[in-house]
Amino acid sequence: MKVSSVAPQFVDRIPKTLEDGVLYISEKYSTAAHNCCCGCKGKVVTPLKEGRWLLKRNKGRVSLVPSIGNWSLACQSHYWIENNSVRWATRFTHSQIEANRTHDRKVLEAAHVERRMKERTLWQRIVDWIKSWF
Ligand SMILES: [Zn+2]
Repeated sequence: MKVSSVAPQFVDRIPKTLEDGVLYISEKYSTAAHNCCCGCKGKVVTPLKEGRWLLKRNKGRVSLVPSIGNWSLACQSHYWIENNSVRWATRFTHSQIEANRTHDRKVLEAAHVERRMKERTLWQRIVDWIKSWF
């Protein structure tokens, strides 16, 4: 059953089995999870951190920004959670999904390259240090 609203539930840990229509929010682990609002029982985990999702609270109601695009699920649902309401968005087209994936991959790659640079400089420093013995 498609749900049209979600009830926020603040928890320490996200439970293993999720109930439809409940948005579980763990501030402790900076994450939220819910069953896909289309009713397919797909578990949707939305990390609440920079670059991922932002949880907005307004008088006991919650919103998640940006929208939730479940393109890893068969249903490919796309919706917004705004003040506890589910607002259905247009489905992503195949090319939009690809564009999103490419974007995500680029962000990840950039982080990876940066990490490698740091590692290399550390390694370079170790090499220089060893060379200085001779
Ligand atoms: Zn679904």
